[in-house]
Amino acid sequence: DFARSKSLSDQRQYLPIYAARDDLLGVVRENQVVVVVGETGSGKTTQLTQYLHEDGYTRTGLVGCTQPRRVAAMSVARRVSEEMGTALGDETGYAIRFEDVTSPNTKIKYMTDGVLLCETLKDADLDRYRVIIMDEAHERSLDTDVLFGILKKVVACRRDFKLIVTSATLNAEKFSKFFGGAPVFHIPGRTFPVNIIFSKTPWEDYVEAAVKQAIAIHMTSGPGDILIFMTGQEEIETACYALAERMVQIVSSSSKAVPKLSILPIYSQLPADLQAKIFQKAEEGTRKCIVATNIAETSLTVDGIFYVIDTGYGKMKVYNPRMGMDALQVFPCSRAAADQRAGRAGRTGPGTCYRLFTESAYQNEMLPNPVPEIQRTNLGNVVLLLKSLNVENLLDFDFMDPPPQENILNSMYQLWLLGALNNVGGLTSLGCKMVEFPLDPCLAKMLLMGKELGCVEEVLTIVSMLSVPSVFFRPKDRAEESDAAREKFFVPESDHLTLLNVYLQWESNQYRSDWCNDHFLHVKGLQKAREVRSQLLDILKTLKIPLSSCRMEWDVVRKAICSAYFQNTARLKGVREYVNCQHGTPCHLHPSSALYGLGYTPDYIVYHELVLTKKEYMQCVSAVDPQWLAELAPMFFSVKEGDTSFLDRRRWHDEEKTAMEEEME
Ligand code: ADP
Ligand code: MG
Repeated sequence: DFARSKSLSDQRQYLPIYAARDDLLGVVRENQVVVVVGETGSGKTTQLTQYLHEDGYTRTGLVGCTQPRRVAAMSVARRVSEEMGTALGDETGYAIRFEDVTSPNTKIKYMTDGVLLCETLKDADLDRYRVIIMDEAHERSLDTDVLFGILKKVVACRRDFKLIVTSATLNAEKFSKFFGGAPVFHIPGRTFPVNIIFSKTPWEDYVEAAVKQAIAIHMTSGPGDILIFMTGQEEIETACYALAERMVQIVSSSSKAVPKLSILPIYSQLPADLQAKIFQKAEEGTRKCIVATNIAETSLTVDGIFYVIDTGYGKMKVYNPRMGMDALQVFPCSRAAADQRAGRAGRTGPGTCYRLFTESAYQNEMLPNPVPEIQRTNLGNVVLLLKSLNVENLLDFDFMDPPPQENILNSMYQLWLLGALNNVGGLTSLGCKMVEFPLDPCLAKMLLMGKELGCVEEVLTIVSMLSVPSVFFRPKDRAEESDAAREKFFVPESDHLTLLNVYLQWESNQYRSDWCNDHFLHVKGLQKAREVRSQLLDILKTLKIPLSSCRMEWDVVRKAICSAYFQNTARLKGVREYVNCQHGTPCHLHPSSALYGLGYTPDYIVYHELVLTKKEYMQCVSAVDPQWLAELAPMFFSVKEGDTSFLDRRRWHDEEKTAMEEEME
């Protein structure tokens, strides 16, 4: 009701940060770096930028605010432009990868930390910016951690530059110390007690347990919205479906009127218009039940939550250097994250948090804090970026928490295989070009190899399609029909070429939406791919790389694909089962692959990525000729007596280590 009855500017004055506004601006005026700490919802993300704008900082440059998540960057920019009464993209805008909604008028710019990181390549001192707010720094995303080191240098060489680091309650002292004892400003909070209820015994199926708990709250407890934390899209969809079904049963078997429940999913891949729904007030007499990933832990603030149901799990990207792969895995969350989740119930009034785990698990099994991403993921992009920023020795870089040396060396090895680094770990000319693309090193390599082989046009489309979520639409109740529709696009032996085929056919049908619907394809996904394609095309133009085409000579395209995925090469081992040539990891063909129903299985394949669900499933697979492997990466594959084996990689490591040691001396 508050949001309905009060104007936006009144709402601004009710936020906890408002009372601290003048003190805060005073501290910023007197210090170059300030750490700002405040509870989720106190107004850090939406208000700080506006205060700085009102205080005149935007007269001499931009106020930039980084977010670890794309969803947050977009939704907050939208909210702030509403508060300022201007159109989104005018005075306030946002930039995320492949999407820049800013203009020459823009004063306040929200962006992902990755976007700012890319900007440092073109402008190392970030001269356009007067102030940078590193928001949600406690999340310790990979890019945030790299930015810490880079911005520390900017602070040292530009006296006119201000840096504000915001954090939920964690880590403030650590941030302050990293910046030589910067002041920590606490926003006086306004929170209510949260009653915490642990499970007595662990749950076998926490999705089911969460659904039961939510229904119990809805049917027996007083007013207030519910927020459920789950690990990812699939679980969230299952839970939403079960909740809706349960409600229908209750309504049909009850003689009394049953209060309505509005079930709202939120996860990063959800389209923006559906995401916005979680912020809208429910109708009179309806209770909202938001089913979210950890995106609702701190990044997005939803008011009116009185009940939190915490499964105690979250998904994390973890790099396994021995397997050479990143995998999204489900882990128990940390104690700090669990407390943060519980706190979401105490913003509007005293709340309750139902934890679907035992108190003993909380005390004995959960880590006190999450492991920073930089210590657990693939560093390919980071290594490439730092190398091009002329950080010769990565072991010297000012990391707040340095990544394990094994991860650095392994990522360097993968880049060397791709030809981005030379024998002593320096950037090659290919590597320099790869940095220009906002893409994973593999995909950048594929594009540039397209130039060598004369098939840029084809590869460009494949890379764009791989940069968006799957375009195949598979509704549960029409699975057979949609599978049949997908099979019509199959190019034998290649999912990559199948993607190309889909795009080409969409193109020859004038990019029509009804055509997509008829063929079980996501219109939005394809449109996004088209946008990505046109942006990559602009980069190719600036690099003066012409749009060559091999006129659908599939083998040429396949060879370019092959050149990008040496580390994801696998050899046939059993029925639809492969083993990775580099580390022997088993990998399985997914039933949705064009190779699945071929009737035979090619000896060698490359895959885009490995996804761990019930098995290690390969996503997007293409058959390759082992001769290409030997030709493209002779140091890696040798073909002798029909056997393609992997050479010892330790030799390269030794060379690299020696070079590093020499440098350090
Ligand atoms: P913090 O960054 O300190 O967690 P925010 O600035 O994100 O806080 O949010 C402050 C308040 O602004 C929230 O409690 C909520 O009331 C409101 N708010 C933020 N984003 C939105 C949005 N997209 N729609 C509606 N209200 C919002
Ligand atoms: Mg915030």
